[in-house]
Parts: sequence; C-alpha cells; structure tokens
Amino acid sequence: MSEAKKSIKKSEPWRIKRYYVYVMATIVALGLPWIRINGHQFFLLSFDKMKLDLAFIQFDMQELYLMPFLLMLLFIGIFGMTVMGGRVFCGWVCPQTVFRVLYRDLIETKLLHLRKRIGNKQKEPDMSKPENKVKKLMAVLIWTLLALIAGADFMWYFVPPETFFKYLSNPSEHMTMIGFVAGIAAFLIYDIVFLKEDFCVYVCPYSRVQSVLYDEHTVMALYDEHRGGKIYEDEGNGEHKKLVNKQKELQTIDPTAECTTCEKCVTVCPTHIDIRQGLQLECINCLECVDACTTVMGKLGKPSLVTWSSDYEIVDRKGKTKYFRPKVIAYIVLLVGIMFALGYMGTTKEHMLLNINKETRLYSIKHHDNKKFTVENSYVFLLQNTETKPMKFYFEVIAPKGMEGKIKIIKPSKPFNVIPDVKKKKIVTLRTADMLVDDNRKDTIIPITIHAYALGNDGKPSKKVSVLRHTTFVFPKETVLFKAK
Ligand code: SF4
Ligand code: SF4
Repeated sequence: MSEAKKSIKKSEPWRIKRYYVYVMATIVALGLPWIRINGHQFFLLSFDKMKLDLAFIQFDMQELYLMPFLLMLLFIGIFGMTVMGGRVFCGWVCPQTVFRVLYRDLIETKLLHLRKRIGNKQKEPDMSKPENKVKKLMAVLIWTLLALIAGADFMWYFVPPETFFKYLSNPSEHMTMIGFVAGIAAFLIYDIVFLKEDFCVYVCPYSRVQSVLYDEHTVMALYDEHRGGKIYEDEGNGEHKKLVNKQKELQTIDPTAECTTCEKCVTVCPTHIDIRQGLQLECINCLECVDACTTVMGKLGKPSLVTWSSDYEIVDRKGKTKYFRPKVIAYIVLLVGIMFALGYMGTTKEHMLLNINKETRLYSIKHHDNKKFTVENSYVFLLQNTETKPMKFYFEVIAPKGMEGKIKIIKPSKPFNVIPDVKKKKIVTLRTADMLVDDNRKDTIIPITIHAYALGNDGKPSKKVSVLRHTTFVFPKETVLFKAK
C-alpha cells in the first residue's frame, strides 16, 4: 500500500474529532455550575443575590467593571479564532451546531431512521408517510426534553443549581425563572427543528462580520480547483454559473481534472452550499465536505480535493500557510493582556465593601474641666460582608504623621457582627482630645485613613477581609474651638 493511501486510511474523520469536542463542551457546560471552590462557581451572574462569581472568586455588583473585560475576552477570542480558522467556532463549539448534530444526525438519523444517512443532509424526510409523522413527533419530543435540560443548564449560570431545584419545588413563587427556562426551550425547539441552519445563514450576525477578518492565511474548507478542475465560473456579481455536471463534461474541458462530480461534498453540507464555488459566508467550517471527499478520493488512492487549508496554500499556491503572523500574534498578546488584567483584578479584589460618608455637621466640640476639650467628627459607614459566613468587624484610624494615636474611635466601642450579603449601616464617631492644629483663621481638614477589617477566629484582624478608605477629620479653627466654651 502506498504511503499516501496509508495516511488516508489512518486519519480519523474531522466529524469524529468534532464529536469529541462536542462531548467535552457538553460535559464542561453541564458540569461547571456544580463545581465549587470556597463556595463559589466558575461563572455565576446572580441577579437574585446581586453577585458575580468569576473563576471561583465572588464579586459584588459594584464590581461589575469586570464584565466589559469578560466581553472583550469573548469577542477578541472569537475574532482571533476567526482570523486563524474562519468560522471554526461555528462548526466546532457553537451550541447551534452541536444541537443540530444532536437532533438531525443522532435523533432523526441514527436513532429513529427518519433520515437515511448522515452523509446526506439535503434530503428532507418524506412527511407524507404516516410512520414518518410518528417518528417526527418522537424526535420533537426527545428534543423537547433535551431543550428543557439545555434551558435549565443555561439558567444555572444565573441561579445556582441547588437553588434552582429548590425554586422548582415551589413553582408558583418562581414563575419568572420557570418562564425563562420554558422560553429558552421553546426557542430551541423552533430553532433546531424548524429554523435549522437558516439561523447560521440569515440570523447570526457573526457570519456578516467574519469575512472582513479573513486574510490569505485563514484556514477554512477549500476546494483545490488546480487538481479537481473548474466546476463553477464566478460571474462577478456574487453569482456562480455551473459549468459542468458530469465528470465526462469536466474532462473534456480539462482532462487532468480529478473531481468525480459525485457531489458527496454537497449533499453532506449542513448549510446547503457547494464548496466548489469557493469561499462562502454560509460555510461554518464543520469540515463534513472534507471528510466526504477524503472517502471518495481515498478509494481512488488520492488525497481529498477539499482540505482545511488557506487561500495562500491551496488557491494561490504560494507556499505553506503561516499560522503565526503579526495579526494573530497581536490577538494573542491582547488576549493574554486582558487575562492578566482580569487575574490581577481577581487578586486585588476586596473581600468586604465599605462606603464612608461624613455627616453634614462638620464637628462637635465639648469642653471639660481643667480647660480640656474634645472634638468629634461623625460618619455613616455602609459596610457589607461579602464572605459566606457571619463575621465580626471593627476599624482603626490611621492618622497623618505627628498625629498618630490622637484620633480615637468612640463609637462603636467594640467589634460588631455582620451577616453575609446584608448592607450594615453604622454611625461611627471619632474623637480627639488633642490640639491637632493651631490655626485661628480657618478649620483644618486632616486626611485620615480608616482601616476596616474582620476579626479572625483567633480574634486578630484578618489580612484577607480588610480594606483601607481615605476620609477626613475636620478640626475647628482656634476662635471657634474656644468660643464654643
Ligand atoms: S462547505 Fe458545508 S460541509 Fe464544508 S465546511 Fe462548509 S459548512 Fe461544512
Ligand atoms: S466529494 Fe470530492 S470528488 Fe466528489 S464532487 Fe466533491 S470535490 Fe468532487
């Protein structure tokens, strides 16, 4: 057996490789909401609790500045993937394609034999036959069940699975959530059973933007016209005129043309295109046509006429495809940069929230015997325990140099308890009995820092649940300080 024949026999069809990816993607999508680290999901956007779990770290809604970074990561990732591999996301990861393969190839074809072969996706079942009507109904019922699971799985990224099932046991109080799941399932039934690949061709906006991202090194399913022969002529207005239908006709034009005109690459195409026309927006890079032609040409001991390659290599025959070109490297650098930014934000995340507002009255002055006085400033502290267990909190004042220890916390006088997820309002009073500033012209605004912290099990300030906030302490001018006497 020749080396070419051996390699043709050995290579696993792209379809099978795609199935592995689909299985992996499904396991990840279904399993991820159940995995917890420190009680947090990998991704959970809870509108119920106003929380975002990201990479197993919990963020409060005030910290949603992370969301644009996530969206940037998603879009730049998809754009980078498109520059490298065309609509590879569509063919290999997109739930639309995964669901269509499940419904059309597994349920309708393999399970119920409503369709003849997965190699022919063009021929619709004959629905005039009563047995086909029953099979179609069964297919829709099976898919409805899977669509409900998909809807529930989607919801688990917004409502944790345990809470989801708790809510399900009390449906009358959680109609919104149930309505969402039912709505998603209804859309999936319409989309997968009736709309089919028209969603990819006419609805999905991605197909419109992808072509501007392509360059001559972008890899996609391509027909090798040099070997296979010219089947279509580009009429220049986006239309293609078919030149030949039979191999004989083709070989009268070009005796070396290898295409058998079997059209296996056409019948297998889920988006109903003929790859021999060249690049088309509808192509989702599923590579079914590559597998089909590999089988046909393999029987003749030749390599496939349709390959996953680039214009540069196959159409223009300029040389090998360059995978790592400046554009691709720029995308990789951008992605790594955003991931670092996200990672940095995750590590600098504060594990409690604290807002400090000064009361409208600037200060209060009290005079005591022996010419002693005290000046008090009051604040409203809004504090939130973003951890999962109740904790005791307290503060300390960090005064500027020369004033250390001279501004003290009077109220609250001792640590206080805060339960998770509840915003606690606390009136805090700071006092000084020292002549902090000697100014008889104006009040002095002294910058101070509040160190707020939770107390650990050992009663010591926690290093993790700890924040610093800058505020001010207003000390009255001398004339006011002594006039108040
Ligand atoms: S031409 Fe059709 S079968 Fe081939 S990769 Fe594109 S979508 Fe898939
Ligand atoms: S499968 Fe290959 S040989 Fe058959 S029509 Fe398509 S390109 Fe030609």
